[in-house]
Amino acid sequence: MSSFKAIVIRKGEAGQTVGLADFDESELMEGDVTLRVEWSTVNYKDGLAVTGKAPVVRRFPMIAGIDAAGTVETSNHPDWKPGDRVVVNGWGCGETHLGFYAEKARVKGDWLVPLPAGLEARDAMAIGTAGYTAMLAVLALERHGLTPDRGPAVVTGAAGGVGSVAVAILARLGWTVIASTGRPEEADYLKELGAAEVIARQELAEKVRPLAKERWAAGVDSVGSTTLANVLSMTRYGGAIAACGLAGGMDLPTSVAPFILRGVALLGVDSVMCPQHLRREAWQRLDTDLDRRKLAKMTEEIGLDGVVEAGRRIVEGQVRGRIVVKIG
Ligand code: NDP
Repeated sequence: MSSFKAIVIRKGEAGQTVGLADFDESELMEGDVTLRVEWSTVNYKDGLAVTGKAPVVRRFPMIAGIDAAGTVETSNHPDWKPGDRVVVNGWGCGETHLGFYAEKARVKGDWLVPLPAGLEARDAMAIGTAGYTAMLAVLALERHGLTPDRGPAVVTGAAGGVGSVAVAILARLGWTVIASTGRPEEADYLKELGAAEVIARQELAEKVRPLAKERWAAGVDSVGSTTLANVLSMTRYGGAIAACGLAGGMDLPTSVAPFILRGVALLGVDSVMCPQHLRREAWQRLDTDLDRRKLAKMTEEIGLDGVVEAGRRIVEGQVRGRIVVKIG
């Protein structure tokens, strides 16, 4: 019986345990494609899973990891053959289906996206769910008809994964980017990524007024709660904010004022069940609209043995940019 290395989460009477372990190949779940995982990454949700801080994992034992880039080993799916280079994220992987901090994975072929021609597998995971979600958010703003001539774009949680990629993409597309961070020491980093202005997280953490001075036409929010409420109340007439995260909380203490008095729109962004045509569009746009040098600047590399510690750091808000995990 063959086995492979994986970050395995188990649940016992004493609670959840997590660690690097040998996983038996016969325990892989159903799927019509088997992958050799080469790279993965650490997202906020991975941090929640490995720390057990939120009930992300719904099945035990679970292999953590919601993102993979790798090569098809075997396939019974008509679209995929051995040797194909692919990216996969979401669809419950690392939550209800065994995930990707592992040398091997078995998934549904319908979940896979071809690795864009201009991207290495490592680049794809430096982008990962966080970066692809940032791109989905930008696509949502564009679908709403917003263009850089309408005014600046704000990015909250800017020094995090979604935030860093959002800053880099928006700047590349010509937006004047206002980056909000709780880490003033990261101001130079955010300016290198393309932020024109860096503001303190605290400015958006105060009591929310129904309407405040109009500051931006668009935004990507990965924080939620009071931050998102303030961002909405400061959005210019006809603007829109793409909401994708809850790093600051799941609540939203807003009023209807921004919506009914300024025609502001709140655009929801989900990466997990996002349909294939949007995924492919997002990955194609990441290929063309994300500066690789900036991506390299925001990325640190670890091995499988560093995942649990990185997961702890990310839920404490201590990770800057993105972390890639070298697997194979
Ligand atoms: P990161 O931890 O890398 O980034 C989150 C950032 O938010 C932090 O770096 C920090 O930025 C800021 N932050 C953290 N805690 C607080 C707080 N208490 N109050 C205000 N700001 C805070 O995580 P990711 O970029 O991977 O994910 C960001 C969020 O987006 C998460 O909530 C995640 O669950 C969500 N997400 C949602 C997806 C979807 O499908 N909708 C997909 C991917 C992510 P700074 O230090 O600059 O202030």
